[in-house]
Amino acid sequence: MRTGQTHLFIPGPTNVPEAVRQSMNVPMQDMRAPDFGDLTLGLFRDLKEVLRTETGEVMIFPGSGTAAWEAAITNTLNPGDRVLMSRTGQFSTLWVEMAERLGLEVEVIDLPWGAVVPVKEYARRLGNDKYDEIKAVFVTHNETATGVTSDVAAVRRVMDECFHDALLFVDGVSSIGSIEFRMDDWGVDLAVTGSQKGLMLPAGLGILGISQKALEASKTATMRRAYFEFSDMRALNADGYFPYTPPTQLFHGLRKSLDRILREEGLDTVIARHHRLAEGVRRGIAAWGLDLVAEHHTLFSDTVSAIRVPTDVDAREVLRIAYKEYNTSFGSGLARLAGKVFRIGHLGDMNEGMCLTALSIAEMSLLRAGVPLQLGSGVGAAQSYFAFDGQIAPAMRVAAE
Ligand SMILES: *Cc1c(COP(=O)(O)O)cnc(C)c1O
Repeated sequence: MRTGQTHLFIPGPTNVPEAVRQSMNVPMQDMRAPDFGDLTLGLFRDLKEVLRTETGEVMIFPGSGTAAWEAAITNTLNPGDRVLMSRTGQFSTLWVEMAERLGLEVEVIDLPWGAVVPVKEYARRLGNDKYDEIKAVFVTHNETATGVTSDVAAVRRVMDECFHDALLFVDGVSSIGSIEFRMDDWGVDLAVTGSQKGLMLPAGLGILGISQKALEASKTATMRRAYFEFSDMRALNADGYFPYTPPTQLFHGLRKSLDRILREEGLDTVIARHHRLAEGVRRGIAAWGLDLVAEHHTLFSDTVSAIRVPTDVDAREVLRIAYKEYNTSFGSGLARLAGKVFRIGHLGDMNEGMCLTALSIAEMSLLRAGVPLQLGSGVGAAQSYFAFDGQIAPAMRVAAE
């Protein structure tokens, strides 16, 4: 038997705030009722605010983030279109695989996992593409497998510098609502997210931000699609309805989570909190003497840290001990990082105490799995950051003098 709370420190699904959970406990309702739009139209409006778009539109598909990936591709591209993508981790790899399966001609740039989206190489290839044969450029904003955040604005700049007309697709599944994301300023044409990460909900909603340019493209794009057809969705969404039964419970949860993000805490405060919590966790990891997968400190993600364990230790053992002995889930190393890496998700409904718990349980699990470290070292480093913003504590200063 297990007592107390089970701790969830994975980068999605994330912890659902109690108020959000309770907001979903409502009776079933008529999705064709005359006032249904009172719920849904507000969700579209507020999701645009989270995406920071005034000119774009938002669609919500019953499905996960992967569904929104597919909706974005099939509505705006043609079979055989050339697209530019990079593989730097498991999620960018899966998006490439989907693009290939759907019949796109993918120009892939392969890089070590832990690398950032290669802006200069994108610039070179787009610059050489004098006749705009590349129809879309793909960026995984936050590669959740490696804990690397890429520079979407820089990709937009290089596209503009060579007057390139391609659509810009951005996977923001583990960044939107947690890390700075600016759809209009960055000229993002298709912004993809899901409900179970920064939006602090169960899985079940694939959310898409769509620029006017992408909507135009959807009118002539010939790739096959049926369930995900933009025009069906748009026709009914205009009054707040859906072409099929929408998950109304999740909509009520989304209503509450958007209220929290935009009104109760404030999006800028949410983003600043994610940075502060991530920095505390990183101080702890550094104190253990362990490295992150990210190739450079400027790439560190504020939503997930992927931690390398020493080569003679199996990261799966760390995960096993944490789960079995301490009721705690950390993220596993995905695909080629299995056994080499474990991840701490620090996004969504998190606070300092939860991060300290994560570090404290990780320390015990790492030690028991054979990593030599000083118990309390990571927790202490994070505490001094959280307590004094990284400055030396007053009591310690007295002692030092
Ligand atoms: C979680 C995640 C996905 C997949 O989303 P699902 O909701 O599981 O389909 C895609 N991309 C990134 C970056 C993610 O973190």
